Amino acid sequence: MLIGLCGGICAGKTSIASYLIEEHGFKRLRLARTAATPAVEKSASDAHIPSPAPAPATPVNSDYIFADVDALLEFVTLRWRERWVTTDIWDDRVVDALLRRPFFLLISVDAPVSVRWQRFKDRCAVNELTPPTLEEFVLRSDAHLFTQHTGLSAVFQRAQLKLLNSTTSVAALRDAVRSLNLTDEARLRPSWDQYFMQLADLAALRSNCMKRRVGCVVVREKRVISTGYNGTPRGMTNCNEGGCPRCNNAAKGGVGLSTCLCLHAEENALLEAGRDRIGETATLYCNTCPCLTCSVKITQVGISEVVYNQGYLVDDQSARIFAESGVRLRQFSPPTDGLVDLSLDNLPSDHVHEQAEDLRDVLDSEYFVRPL
Ligand SMILES: [Zn+2]
Ligand SMILES: [Zn+2]
Ligand SMILES: [Zn+2]
Repeated sequence: MLIGLCGGICAGKTSIASYLIEEHGFKRLRLARTAATPAVEKSASDAHIPSPAPAPATPVNSDYIFADVDALLEFVTLRWRERWVTTDIWDDRVVDALLRRPFFLLISVDAPVSVRWQRFKDRCAVNELTPPTLEEFVLRSDAHLFTQHTGLSAVFQRAQLKLLNSTTSVAALRDAVRSLNLTDEARLRPSWDQYFMQLADLAALRSNCMKRRVGCVVVREKRVISTGYNGTPRGMTNCNEGGCPRCNNAAKGGVGLSTCLCLHAEENALLEAGRDRIGETATLYCNTCPCLTCSVKITQVGISEVVYNQGYLVDDQSARIFAESGVRLRQFSPPTDGLVDLSLDNLPSDHVHEQAEDLRDVLDSEYFVRPL
């Protein structure tokens, strides 16, 4: 795999690269700085920023410096199962080329400007240099991030994983990054669970129910049989256009359910698939935990496994029905994605949980709160 780290001045991308090199056997790749290198990136390059230690920790292997991103990609394509890291993410052209490849993961690292300034001053002190004032540092940082056409802030937005690094020591940073399990291959290519759950999330975006967006996918032998989302029945006014009076009034969730006209995502997916196509070995993915009435239908139609997404309270009546009828109920937690604050104590662990195998597990698990 190839991990690209991009970040503001002293955000911590080099520290994370060193962590990957020292703890996970990554090797660092560099792009040669040429006349074509964006001036902003040159100004933020190591030549102008004092290095963290007076002497470079490891000499750079000259084999790993490439004339341009195409040469770098040619090299990695033949060796993508080995571990490579680069911090030379300079502009959209570099990112465009890298993100096209299935072995590439882009990670951005950011930190508050006051924290980055302090780190910069610390480095200046180690190198016996005069540190910039805060104002000088801010101007330099702004040029690095926001100069038109070459500013890097737009590149950061394209990262699959965005790290907020206000940690106060390299050791704390390493501990936090370690818990994210950056080398998990599922970050490059989603597992089947992740893939189908993302399809359920996508289906949920089509929901027109005013109360909640829910999406569902029925799968057999890794093939999608049907998808569903919640909303009013076909031919009727959509819920969000006033189609269901119950959903459009201010009643709390769970109140007046018997007067609701909206079909649930699971019901729609089951109706779409039909019992014959569902067969004996189908799995239903839902981005929430099915309610009692859906659970009854899921059981009757012969679904053998229900996978629901992390973070939703399990309905213990549903869990009881599934347990009694032998439908496996499983929670899926995708790898941590998006924005992660590394200074938080309890970073989510980055593993697929195969929990809740039977009713007692469901009800005793620390992940769930019993409904009131
Ligand atoms: Zn509705
Ligand atoms: Zn309704
Ligand atoms: Zn339901």
